[in-house]
Amino acid sequence: MLSKVENLSEYFLAYEKSVANTDTFWERIANQFYWRKKWDKVVESDFEEAKVEWFINGKLNITENILERHLFTIGDKPAIIWEPNDPKEANVTLTYRQLHEKVCQFANVLLKNQVKKGDRVIIYMPMIPEAAIAMLACARIGSVHSVVFAGFSSTALADRINNCEAKIVLTSDGNFRGSKSIGVKSVVDEALEKTKTIEKVIVVERTKTPVTMKAGRDLWWHDEVAKVDSINKAEEMDSEDMLFILYTSGSTGQPKGVVHTTGGYMVYTQYSFQNVFQYNTDDVYWCTADVGWITGHSYIVYGPLLTGATTIMFEGVPTYPTPGRFWEIVDKYKVNQFYTAPTAIRALQAFGLDPVTPYKLDSLKVLGTVGEPINEEAWHWYHDHIGKGKCPIVDTWWQTETGGIMISPLAGLTPTKPGYATLPLPGIRPVIVDADGKILKGNGVKGNLCISHPWPSMIRTTYGDHERCKSTYFSTYKGMYFTGDGVKRDEDGYYRILGRVDDVINVSGHRMGTAEVENAINEHPKVIESAVVGYPHDIKGQGIYAYVICDMEGRTEENLKEEIRATVNKIIGPIAKPDKVQIVSGLPKTRSGKIMRRILRKVAENDTSNLGDTSTLLNPEVVDEIIKGAQ
Ligand code: ATP
Ligand code: MG
Repeated sequence: MLSKVENLSEYFLAYEKSVANTDTFWERIANQFYWRKKWDKVVESDFEEAKVEWFINGKLNITENILERHLFTIGDKPAIIWEPNDPKEANVTLTYRQLHEKVCQFANVLLKNQVKKGDRVIIYMPMIPEAAIAMLACARIGSVHSVVFAGFSSTALADRINNCEAKIVLTSDGNFRGSKSIGVKSVVDEALEKTKTIEKVIVVERTKTPVTMKAGRDLWWHDEVAKVDSINKAEEMDSEDMLFILYTSGSTGQPKGVVHTTGGYMVYTQYSFQNVFQYNTDDVYWCTADVGWITGHSYIVYGPLLTGATTIMFEGVPTYPTPGRFWEIVDKYKVNQFYTAPTAIRALQAFGLDPVTPYKLDSLKVLGTVGEPINEEAWHWYHDHIGKGKCPIVDTWWQTETGGIMISPLAGLTPTKPGYATLPLPGIRPVIVDADGKILKGNGVKGNLCISHPWPSMIRTTYGDHERCKSTYFSTYKGMYFTGDGVKRDEDGYYRILGRVDDVINVSGHRMGTAEVENAINEHPKVIESAVVGYPHDIKGQGIYAYVICDMEGRTEENLKEEIRATVNKIIGPIAKPDKVQIVSGLPKTRSGKIMRRILRKVAENDTSNLGDTSTLLNPEVVDEIIKGAQ
């Protein structure tokens, strides 16, 4: 495959080329795609104005690059394999040819319902094939999709509809999640009481849950597709036309409507997918994310399908019907690349090895993680018991705003180190700055992670509020994109993400990432998960407050707390010993599985009067428990 880096020296060479001659580097990669008209200029950018453009004046449609481009070569290859929540239900395979047909057909449904180029379309759907079909159909006609995770509340949904003034909602009657069937359309109905812009709602029948259909507004997906044919000529898009809006997960505050455009996003998601996962022609790839997150956009749908890969979409949850479900699916489809989140690994690790041992897992070649720092214990468990010691782990660092993977090993090429995202992808230029914006050169440094030069899939704006984009990402350090994350570059030049800068704790002048301390705490055999925050401390400036989920068997709380402190003391040193340890039954998490540390920080600071936006919390009930048990 073109532009696939095959060994470590080729990686270094590609990296050098990308720095020495950025335009030629990206042009060669972009040339592999189908453009109705090629670009006049590769890139233009002004970070002070947060203005970035790639493949300027290029004309294309991203779905022609996913569908038409592959029809004559791999038309009969499975594009999407869908595994239902219930393993007894039949799965669905869509070949590239079938996907082409379904996307064209639904594109015609959108057109028939007056959806036009530039209109915003909300997709609020479970993990069913129609979710991917809907995304691609939007891209086909040039409308802008905004996928909202189907577990979000009606308020969160209404906020997003209002923010982007969407015209139509694509949804389902319900959602099967483990042993539960959850209403989805009913949430849309509630949300629409708080919105004014939605003209139509198209509903996929999935669970057969009774729903109310409002005449003139609500339509069934199956009725609509029956009325149209599947011949559709893709809309011609400018390289910089909007492809989608995706709201960030909201771990740090009000969600931001991150805007991605067409040409650069296409080039970068394909390039990064192929290289990070080292995808080969007949491989079966599975990413367990939800399409409601950027990972689902770039690495379930766009990156793999642009590459002509077979991508699995899984409707269910890791623990249903048993905690062996992931591994059962890996064996069933002979998955070669498996990509998941540390939170899922830790959750499955807590069940021990019994759910793992019945499965062979011998098809696996590459394992991946994304979303948060992976603690070393989970890394080793994943490496030893899932990868059987033979699969490289790609710890991929990136963000909704970056569109694609930025810092990561290339599977099998880059030597890995637990907890390290290792090296930047070609074209990505990370810099580390201190609090005053001074660039820290050389190795063995720690600071704030910025990116100094534009890359194709970067954020273009925050929808409807360009100032917010400027002030959030481009104002902290002049002339640079600021990621908000703390990072260390070790003696080998490897990058280790330390967590968000807001989460870096300064104890008596020593700066520490919360991830480092959590990592140490998690080494204690009785610890299941932990979260660490700083709080004001009279003497040290900041003290360390640890919230820990433990297996209490055979221990008292007091013993455990002392043992946890001793573990941290041994691994990092006395400076990192938590001042306070609170044993909890759960941690407040976003629906993408990330710990909402700002809530824990408020509790540690003893300021619980205003906890901010908690609409994206998965388990609001643990917040009360944590407040009651606070020290
Ligand atoms: P919000 O921006 O609304 O607070 P969020 O930052 O959680 O939400 P995402 O864009 O999904 O939303 O997450 C990106 C963040 O996730 C990164 O900035 C980083 O903090 C963390 N992250 C992602 N991948 C990794 C990784 N491999 N290692 C460490 N941290 C990671
Ligand atoms: Mg973020």
